[in-house]
Amino acid sequence: MRLYLASGNVHKVAEFQELARSSGLPIEIVSARAAGGMPAVNEDSGTFVGNATKKALALLSALPAQSWVLADDSGLCVDALHGDPGVESAYYAGPEGDPAANLRKLVEELRDVPQERRGAAFHCVLVLVGTSHPAQAFAGICPGTLREIPAGGAGFGYDPLFVPEGETRTFAEMPESEKNQLSHRARAWAKLAAYLRTLASGVDRRPGS
Ligand code: IMP
Repeated sequence: MRLYLASGNVHKVAEFQELARSSGLPIEIVSARAAGGMPAVNEDSGTFVGNATKKALALLSALPAQSWVLADDSGLCVDALHGDPGVESAYYAGPEGDPAANLRKLVEELRDVPQERRGAAFHCVLVLVGTSHPAQAFAGICPGTLREIPAGGAGFGYDPLFVPEGETRTFAEMPESEKNQLSHRARAWAKLAAYLRTLASGVDRRPGS
């Protein structure tokens, strides 16, 4: 099965390729770029599921019939900031979407927040849609805490600040294979993979089916 990924983020493409490989499913993740580019999408729905659905349908409409698309929308929800930056994570410091500026802004906003109030969680919603298959959503959450000073050179985005629950290293201090066992995307992917197995076995467990 070929799944076109509705994202222009090369890190996400690599993470999903690794997740597909390790799940043992016969799935090929193909980037939107390889399929002619990701159409522009206004991510203005205000929710992860709404934005992911918009991205999935935008790419699907640009692909040949019988295609399958996977879209992801994700972000970091910080307790001390009442859930911000949330769906706005990519543009926290401005419309340019500069990851380094976003990280600097978060460090600054949390400068006076003590360790016991530095809880946060990465959220991810995956949406799967096919030409003859309605959109299905799968959510994953990875709780953790935020360091005061960024550490590590792996990953992307807010990874250098985020320490997942039960760990002492930030996501950016872990090899990708370890992040991929804990992350919000991995947790959503596990639900998607279970669903794809039911589809492959001919048992559709969609609500109402
Ligand atoms: P999206 O591409 O619209 O889903 O935006 C997601 C944004 O959330 C990214 O640009 C990052 O700022 C942040 N984000 C999502 N997942 C991760 C992750 O695994 N590590 C670090 N930052 C992430």
